[in-house]
Amino acid sequence: MVKSILFNPVACLARGIENLYIQRENNRFYILKRSCGALARTLSVTLFPLALTVELIFKKAPKALLAITFSNDQIKKIKFRKKISGVEKFALGILFSPLGFFHTPDAVSCFFLKTFDLKPAVRPFGVEKIYGKKIEGIHFPSDENELRTLILRAKNDNKQVSIIGSGMSQGEQTVPSKKKHILINMRNFKAIGLGNNNETVKAGAGAIWEEIQLAVNGKGKSVIVKQASDLFSVGGSIGINCHGWAHDYGAIASTVEELEVMDAEGKVHILKPTNPMFGCFFGTMGYFGIVMNATFKLADNDHLIEKTVEVKLDEFTENYENNIKNHQDIPLFGGRLVLDSRKGHPLRKVCMVSYEKDGELKSSLPVKSDFLLEARYGTLFQRVALQAISHLSNLSARIVLSKFWDRERGSMLAGRKLTRNEALHPPINAFLMLHHSNLHAQWLQEYFITKKNLPNFLRYLGLQLESNNVRLINATIRPTPKDDISILPYAEQDRYAVVLSFNQFKSNKEIKRTEKWIKEVNEYVTAGGDVYYQAYMPYASKEQFEKAYGEERVENMRKLKTQFDPENRFGNSHTARYFDNN
Ligand SMILES: Cc1cc2nc3c(=O)[nH]c(=O)nc-3n(C[C@H](O)[C@H](O)[C@H](O)COP(=O)(O)OP(=O)(O)OC[C@H]3O[C@@H](n4cnc5c(N)ncnc54)[C@H](O)[C@@H]3O)c2cc1C
Repeated sequence: MVKSILFNPVACLARGIENLYIQRENNRFYILKRSCGALARTLSVTLFPLALTVELIFKKAPKALLAITFSNDQIKKIKFRKKISGVEKFALGILFSPLGFFHTPDAVSCFFLKTFDLKPAVRPFGVEKIYGKKIEGIHFPSDENELRTLILRAKNDNKQVSIIGSGMSQGEQTVPSKKKHILINMRNFKAIGLGNNNETVKAGAGAIWEEIQLAVNGKGKSVIVKQASDLFSVGGSIGINCHGWAHDYGAIASTVEELEVMDAEGKVHILKPTNPMFGCFFGTMGYFGIVMNATFKLADNDHLIEKTVEVKLDEFTENYENNIKNHQDIPLFGGRLVLDSRKGHPLRKVCMVSYEKDGELKSSLPVKSDFLLEARYGTLFQRVALQAISHLSNLSARIVLSKFWDRERGSMLAGRKLTRNEALHPPINAFLMLHHSNLHAQWLQEYFITKKNLPNFLRYLGLQLESNNVRLINATIRPTPKDDISILPYAEQDRYAVVLSFNQFKSNKEIKRTEKWIKEVNEYVTAGGDVYYQAYMPYASKEQFEKAYGEERVENMRKLKTQFDPENRFGNSHTARYFDNN
């Protein structure tokens, strides 16, 4: 602790300011509230800029000077640029620190938060404090033997095994149900290899899409189904059975040719789609064993043209079915819902964005995109924009989001040319900065709705979002065709996924407000025979889970569990809450 303060005074002060700010928001005693607020403001314009100046002069600037290079070595150049951006960040922090007094106390310090875990802890994304837990240990096996040893030890000690990939689930899906249970992080299972004729790729469970896309792009190839963005692991994507813009494929299960998994006895199974165990791994949150490797089909990295038409809610599904569904030349598609809430209700219209193969640039040679790895925490502009939205008043946020939407809409309607791999690599890493904050987060919710229910659901949801002042950053519709593979599908028939991404202020009051509207939406969705996504807040009741995912299917899952994992070796707090039969 003392070491953290001595070596990171800025980060420690930033945490202190945030903690005081949280007290100001949550404390019930007026005088204490006021005092915490005043102290946070005072620190933000006194000790905080002082600490920034000291760290800039004695740490950041000397490190940048030492990194100066005159050689052409790219690695040295990147290192130097990184050090210089560190210096810039601290200098900007000093310059803008008065904002801590005139705006919110953490207006500047929020950019300098860091997390120092003194004990092993699992901290799920966006809900670090709400569902996070200190545990006895996190294990990082690097091969099959080490993994087996862990599983057999867990069996011997009668402990349950939970699994974590990138840890981006916004709930309890990676959190062991008891402190003494075992958590396995699969990040060292990272091998990536292309198959015959580059038609498939075999990837380790800990590999993330960005690494895989980088490898297959070199051969002019592209992953078929993955999330819209790239920081998720293979294991976690299978665990949730993710989906994205490949509208004709839906869930990722339809693109997997083979799984290599370890069971509760430490035995390895190679599973093909015809194996009865195969479907048990998709969307079941690590309940049936550990995915070690997966082999995926690949698509060509085509040149595409982005085209957009704006339609009313009632026209969306018909337009999609007539013009886009099953269209060989439109491999990617998604609808983007209106975010603006100044000129009407949010979600009142949809921009239908399709990516059509560019006939003029058809090539028999592999198409390789200029594929750059995203910076760890995105660009400075993205970080500032994300924090600005969190720190604005409701009125200002509405104005900014309305302007943002006008610009987005304009550029979608103007269209552009890009490759498939470029389309599948939108920036996301700025979000990761929020992983250090206990006050600001970017939350998501998602619902799988039938064609018949979709327009009314969107109208209902738009009103809910508006009346609860939800700061929507993104809202999309993605077709999710029927999934026959997973034993617990969210699309047991053709459905449309409605995905919301919104800014969440994590004071007790604001969390309560969000819990209330999410519960109301869950009630609406399940009452209408529709389904919510398991990746996000665990606000649904067990009865709602069973209704949404189908009582028979849930029962069948429990039966298969007793067959393949009778001692309940694999599980976590999410599966204990919803899957276990108790
Ligand atoms: C900003 C953001 C954007 C998102 N966009 C999309 C999207 O476009 N489409 C979409 O479908 N979802 C989306 N999601 C949800 C996301 O796909 C899921 O939360 C996904 O599970 C995260 O992957 P992960 O690697 O972080 O998984 P983790 O959170 O680490 O794990 C998820 C589950 O999988 C299990 N698991 C992990 N590894 C293994 C393994 N090797 N073997 C067996 N089980 C394992 C875990 O136990 C856990 O239950 C988004 C989430 C966020 C935060």
